[in-house]
Amino acid sequence: MTIDTVIFDMDDTLVDWSACEITWGELADSLLDVIAAYLSGEGYEIPERTAVHKQYMDILIAAWAHARETGQAVTIGNIFEQCLTSWNVPLDMMDAVMDVYVEAGGVGIIPGVKLYDDTIFVLKTLKEEGYKIGLITNSMSPMWMRDVELKEYGIIEYFDARVTSGDVGYIKPHPAIYHHIMELLDTDSDHAIFVGDRPNADILGANRVGMASVWMKPAHIDYELGEAKPEYTISKLEQLLPILEREIER
Ligand SMILES: [Mg+2]
Repeated sequence: MTIDTVIFDMDDTLVDWSACEITWGELADSLLDVIAAYLSGEGYEIPERTAVHKQYMDILIAAWAHARETGQAVTIGNIFEQCLTSWNVPLDMMDAVMDVYVEAGGVGIIPGVKLYDDTIFVLKTLKEEGYKIGLITNSMSPMWMRDVELKEYGIIEYFDARVTSGDVGYIKPHPAIYHHIMELLDTDSDHAIFVGDRPNADILGANRVGMASVWMKPAHIDYELGEAKPEYTISKLEQLLPILEREIER
């Protein structure tokens, strides 16, 4: 089969999280502090800090557990709707809260996170060779929020289509999100290859739609393959290029 399309996962596939300087929890804490201060300033009685943070984490953990069970995506809008409801804040404050979230650093590059040293080289080479390039990320953020990072990294122009699970409504490994991007890219599973680091999401999803896959397994990644079956395994992104040059074995 001739591969004409390469679809990437984002985090830990194109973007290196190995030296991330803060945890998800710390980032969430700092955003929640700003949001709680804003809502208090607007006259709402927000619970004390520990309770706010616990409610948020409980809502988030339950939402992702439900997503993994059903394949249905988590959205940031839904998470904050549940938070506002639990704090007795009317939902017509959602837009303002989302603005505060963005202003407070909820979008953009997280300190210490960076591109791999060959990410731009690989994307540029693929583009020059005429491949269509797609991106699917399991993220509760809408794509416009993740696009802020792609712009800051200077790689947004390489992608012909980009989707987050939050936008599509399904998370990898659900087939629907793969079919969605194949439609956007005007390709099919015989002509596309998926590159991702998480076997139980990226690779399993590709397996389910009959798409060839490459497991990106840099040194800091330590996942079990489980039932996922990648055709190829690489530890550096540039190792993808010679794979694409030969006939893809299926
Ligand atoms: Mg990833």
